[in-house]
Amino acid sequence: MSAIEDFLKANESYAATFQKGDLPMPPARHVAVLTCMDARLHPARFLGLDEGDAHVIRNAGGRASDDAIRSLVISQQLLGTNTVLVIHHTDCGMVTFSNEDLRARLKQELHVDAGDIDFLPFRDLEQSVRDDVAKIKSSPLIPDNVDVSGFVYDVRTGKLLPVT
Ligand code: ZN
Repeated sequence: MSAIEDFLKANESYAATFQKGDLPMPPARHVAVLTCMDARLHPARFLGLDEGDAHVIRNAGGRASDDAIRSLVISQQLLGTNTVLVIHHTDCGMVTFSNEDLRARLKQELHVDAGDIDFLPFRDLEQSVRDDVAKIKSSPLIPDNVDVSGFVYDVRTGKLLPVT
């Protein structure tokens, strides 16, 4: 069976008992979570979120990129969220390369010049959380009354630790 067939089969069983077709669009818990795309992170499970509870914005590193901020603006202005959790994690792939490394790889593998694209890698895990919390808080597009806090998720223990 191909991977796609596997997904469709899994979805068939999911839909067979699905009973949440009437949820409102705005998240019930008024929260947006910004976190890494890492396959080991299951934010709904480690935060106890159900369908309809929260926006989960994911990208490489869980970075407060311009596009993450775009999503937060929509989340807050149009869908009523007032809390942001920024969650980076231990053993993140984003500490394993530099912009120069990735640009060189793209040149070698794809023969393209990535120019000055910032892939937003980082060296210090806790500092990257602080930087992204600060970037969100200082954005003129984010209201001052939005609560923004930062955390590190430990992929070995499943624990979420606040970053202050
Ligand atoms: Zn990661």
